[in-house]
Amino acid sequence: MSNRTFTIVKPDSVRKGNFGKVISRVEAEGFKILGLKKASLSQKQAEGFYAVHRERPFFKDLVKYMTSGPVYVAALERDNAVAHLRKIMGATDPTKADAGTIRKDFGESIEQNAIHGSDSDENAKIEIAFFFAESELM
Ligand code: GDP
Repeated sequence: MSNRTFTIVKPDSVRKGNFGKVISRVEAEGFKILGLKKASLSQKQAEGFYAVHRERPFFKDLVKYMTSGPVYVAALERDNAVAHLRKIMGATDPTKADAGTIRKDFGESIEQNAIHGSDSDENAKIEIAFFFAESELM
């Protein structure tokens, strides 16, 4: 089990001024921020990042949303990192997310759901490398 995961504080969170609140939740759970950047995803970057979803009916909308404004991307470290971040994020659909989760408190819809978190150690590694050189992680 790896101790790293990857997160995106999504455009809806940044737009609403919730970046600080979302990242505070993450830090309060003991995650160390190894690397952090503000980024405006290009269409190519968003399509590449979400390539696994390209056959899904919502792919076009997802790309449009993820390129609709700046995001913060971060590499995180903690024990049981992938599973723990997923737990504090909550379900994809904020209306179905548990009370006290980030998506329940800050998400707007199944699409505009405040935060991304890697779903496996393998994807965490790929997603971190998508945005960071190893030398940028400290
Ligand atoms: P996650 O791992 O919980 O982020 O969920 P998925 O990997 O299934 O989906 C990736 C992202 O696509 C989600 O976080 C949402 O932003 C978006 N998404 C998922 N399901 C839907 C849907 O049914 N409709 C729309 N418009 N977007 C969705």
